[in-house]
Amino acid sequence: MGTRDQLEPIETASRDTLAALQIERLKKTLHTAYERVPHYRKKFAAAGVHPSDLKELSDLARFPFTGKDDLRQNYPFGMFAVPMDDIVRVHASSGTTGKPTVVGYTQGDIDTWSSLMARSIRAAGGRSSDKIHVAYGYGLFTGGLGAHYGGEYLGATVIPVSGGFTERQVQLIVDFRPDVIMVTPSYMLAIADEFERQGFAASDCSLRIGIFGAEPWTESMRAEIERRMGLQALNHYGLSELIGPGVAQECPESRDGMTLWEDHFFPEIVDPDSGRVVPDGKSGELVLTSLTKEAMPVIRYRTRDLTRLLPPAARPMRRIARITGRSDDMLIIRGVNVFPSQIEAVLGREPQLAPHYLLEVRRPHTLDELEVLVEMRPELSGKLNAEQIVALAQKAEHLIKGYVGITATVRVLEPGTVERSQGKAKRVVDRRPKT
Ligand code: ADP
Repeated sequence: MGTRDQLEPIETASRDTLAALQIERLKKTLHTAYERVPHYRKKFAAAGVHPSDLKELSDLARFPFTGKDDLRQNYPFGMFAVPMDDIVRVHASSGTTGKPTVVGYTQGDIDTWSSLMARSIRAAGGRSSDKIHVAYGYGLFTGGLGAHYGGEYLGATVIPVSGGFTERQVQLIVDFRPDVIMVTPSYMLAIADEFERQGFAASDCSLRIGIFGAEPWTESMRAEIERRMGLQALNHYGLSELIGPGVAQECPESRDGMTLWEDHFFPEIVDPDSGRVVPDGKSGELVLTSLTKEAMPVIRYRTRDLTRLLPPAARPMRRIARITGRSDDMLIIRGVNVFPSQIEAVLGREPQLAPHYLLEVRRPHTLDELEVLVEMRPELSGKLNAEQIVALAQKAEHLIKGYVGITATVRVLEPGTVERSQGKAKRVVDRRPKT
């Protein structure tokens, strides 16, 4: 057994010990941000707060939020709290709109990040004796390198495959016999399809654990992946603005939420409209403050991810529930708020449908219309006549109406028609006129 296979002392500490560490680290972080990042100094001053106003953890609610816009305004390096000389790496988040947001790391940050990813892999059941297949993209995206350094830090054998070349992914899994795979859940399904196309039984493959994150997914997708790949599928959460992957990890002991590494990230849940902190257990937007970041401390970052805080389970740290969506992914269809993950969960109830779907939103006149393109199960291909396909689509329309409360048009397509992602899946195409 490797030395890093054991729990760190903080993973078995009391809540009081954890809280004491959090307050000490939070004070330091606020002071560093204020003293070294002009943007924070200005924002704190405008809000009439000073780092010395923080006496207890709940005082953090008096400090201003940080959003993607703050990072964009300071593009590329304006949020750094250390001289460029001390930055050993930069990453950037995908940036679907406008400029990407850039993040920087000192050597200390890389070490922290690696240790948190190693902790996450270990919490999922991975060990130093394991081989880890990393199919998250390598590059500016934090997924690939984050997983890579974590696997090495744990002492495991890392296979740095990156995303894409799906045929080769299968070949490497068959030949190298990895124990753990780290990849987006949507790309895992594309790999599962490719296994079948090549005539291999994916469920017999060597993989024991899958660590899946970077995009929203559902319990029905978990069941599908576990059945097809014969592995334990666990949820993992992170975002580049805070560090990358390595923020929260689901433990097999409690498969109902991800343990948030609270000794490095302080969580709050706020009402997305009013910005007010809501009590634990209530749903809202996750706001995170870094507690140990050197290069780029982040104060009250609005993740736009919707979840709730759950009590500790396998560790003294609290958990976050499965992310239901991002507030900016929310569609408003004829006045009803809808998240793609809600549609995904409903489609998962119909055994004849595959978890490959795309939502298209249009506004032909004045009202929004939602079309759901979804594939039938591969084994049904060529076996359903036109009437049966229409009946299946109508069944799905009823389910959506019943569970989500909106009217959608469903089109059931042949297997392989919906474009597969090689990283984060694109679930929504918005064809509404830009206003
Ligand atoms: P972006 O997608 O904003 O360019 P990142 O690449 O850093 O930035 O991705 C972070 C985002 O990915 C999170 O804010 C969240 O929306 C999403 N994400 C990451 N892990 C999960 C997960 N396990 N479940 C749902 N969403 C996730």
